Amino acid sequence: MLEAGPIGFGASGRNGGFCGLGSAKLSYPRMVVRFGLEETAGFIRAQVEAVELVRALGGDERLAFDAQGSGTITVAHRPSRQTELEAEAAILTRHGGGPVALWSRDELRARGYASPEAFGALHQAVGFGLHPLKYLRGLADAALKRGARIHAESPVVSWRSEAGRHVLVTPRGCVRAKRVIIATNGFTRESLHPGLAGTLLPVLSNIVVTRPLRADEIAAQGYTTETPVSDTRHLLSYVRLLSDRRFMFGARGGLDAVPGAIPAQRAWMERCLGEMYPAWRGIETTHFFLARAGVLVGGAHAPYRGAG
Ligand SMILES: Cc1cc2nc3c(=O)[nH]c(=O)nc-3n(C[C@H](O)[C@H](O)[C@H](O)COP(=O)(O)OP(=O)(O)OC[C@H]3O[C@@H](n4cnc5c(N)ncnc54)[C@H](O)[C@@H]3O)c2cc1C
Repeated sequence: MLEAGPIGFGASGRNGGFCGLGSAKLSYPRMVVRFGLEETAGFIRAQVEAVELVRALGGDERLAFDAQGSGTITVAHRPSRQTELEAEAAILTRHGGGPVALWSRDELRARGYASPEAFGALHQAVGFGLHPLKYLRGLADAALKRGARIHAESPVVSWRSEAGRHVLVTPRGCVRAKRVIIATNGFTRESLHPGLAGTLLPVLSNIVVTRPLRADEIAAQGYTTETPVSDTRHLLSYVRLLSDRRFMFGARGGLDAVPGAIPAQRAWMERCLGEMYPAWRGIETTHFFLARAGVLVGGAHAPYRGAG
């Protein structure tokens, strides 16, 4: 395994730590219209199994990944969005999405989530929060123990074919392989292989993390839930009160990842955090990161065929 940066440099080490259902932009009712009931039910089951796999693997390998909360919460950020959550809940209940509950604004508040932008919620019992970098490092150790070879700080800078083999060149050496699996996601360099050209659209997402909050600050906002929370925005906000009482706030990124764009993005995130959680307006944030994920936009699977 060749990794350009340190192990966990990509989104897998630096994401929001939501392990739950909801990995598509399309709502379940729309999915049913477009793909049919059977496909949608299969997709829901696959997500439930994925969550179970993450938990089971973590247990089997004894990974310390700070599992946190109970299920996941999706908050209606406008009153009209509660109706959409009701439709989601109906499909999840009928098609194996595990127990779900619809909460009014007051019920949500009673369960430890208060915000001027909360008008009700959907609670899904399947899911939890985790510490992504701890999980990833644990997996890397487990792979090493089973004989995997992992090379950090080893970017593949060129890729050629030689005598029926792929040759992956890094600044410090090269690897010859019969088969190559590309897992570079939003960090993919299109120039690496002709099959990669025009296939990926990187999308940015930002996270800010506050200093640890005091008990009185937590009480002032009425936010005590440790369950991961996202909302019904198309480019959703996702938040977690971490086990050391720091607050993680994630939201859509800008369009530009150049270093000069970062201060404005951070200021925007801090402003949004204050609007959604007024008691924490102006609270110091100690970490900010802007990470990339990738969306396949075209030429689907061509690079994988090319890679043999
Ligand atoms: C801010 C953010 C928050 C997210 N939150 C969540 C969440 O809460 N829950 C969830 O399920 N998903 C979340 N996601 C999505 C999820 O993290 C990604 O879908 C997932 O991590 C992608 O995994 P991956 O292995 O495909 O890519 P990555 O983990 O991004 O790994 C790709 C790796 O490829 C390396 N690389 C690139 N080019 C080369 C090269 N030429 N040579 C060698 N190495 C190279 C990069 O350095 C990188 O480490 C989030 C994404 C972002 C950006």
